[in-house]
Amino acid sequence: MRIPRSHPRYVSLKTRESLVAANREGVVVLEGLIAHGRGEAWDYLLGEETSAPALVAEKAAAAFLLAAKNPVISVNGNVAALATRQVARLAAAIPAKVEVNLFHRTDARVRQITRLLQNAGVKDVLGPRPNARIPGLASQRARTHRAGTYSADVVLVPLEDGDRAEALTKMGKVVISVDLNPLSRTTQAAAVPIVDELTRALTEVERFVRDLKRDRPEAARVRREYDRARNLAAVFGFLRWRLAGLVTTTKKPRPRQTKR
Ligand code: ATP
Ligand code: MG
Repeated sequence: MRIPRSHPRYVSLKTRESLVAANREGVVVLEGLIAHGRGEAWDYLLGEETSAPALVAEKAAAAFLLAAKNPVISVNGNVAALATRQVARLAAAIPAKVEVNLFHRTDARVRQITRLLQNAGVKDVLGPRPNARIPGLASQRARTHRAGTYSADVVLVPLEDGDRAEALTKMGKVVISVDLNPLSRTTQAAAVPIVDELTRALTEVERFVRDLKRDRPEAARVRREYDRARNLAAVFGFLRWRLAGLVTTTKKPRPRQTKR
């Protein structure tokens, strides 16, 4: 279907279309489409723009990724469908390894996503033949690479499942999440939770990586002063402010009083 550019929800409809196409190609599972819907609902509430608190977390994420010895970006089906270009640019800027991690894991899907990432320009993709397990995880998401997530000190996990975010945190890693749901277990478990839409978040983190690379003292200051609890409180403060604004803008005019 051709979606007219003038459609008020053009970007959202195009995104849905590309996810449906990715589902037909076997990259995205049906469960991924449902997860996207949950993200969209939060994005609606948050105003479909990067909030000021999200920017603070994105800058902190860039600072932690730059200081890492072995930074890894984890990619699942939805991330592969929506943001291979952004992942490739960010991985090159840091530089970081990229690892494919799927809940609904099949060798064919891993190979397909690995190819997508390579085509987007990612040099170092850890995909097939995982050789380690994340302790305490029963699902296929436990399967990992010794040289990748298993030994990483900082992991960026966009659209993560809460269980794995918690397991990675227990392993002592600095977990950076990207998840529009501020209530998700992922957001609650991450050391640096970014509450923003995936493509916007990755683009901003990359921009900060490039800036902070040229200003190491500022990167160190950001790492020192980042306050996770205060940042999440600011996210909820922002949401409260948004909702309060919606109450006033959606108020119906009072019906005119008529004298009897
Ligand atoms: P958790 O397991 O962490 O408690 P969950 O069960 O709500 O979270 P999952 O289905 O595991 O979530 O993962 C999808 C999450 O990603 C959802 O919280 C959703 O809000 C978020 N999400 C989906 N699409 C996007 C997107 N494009 N950008 C950012 N976040 C997204
Ligand atoms: Mg979940």
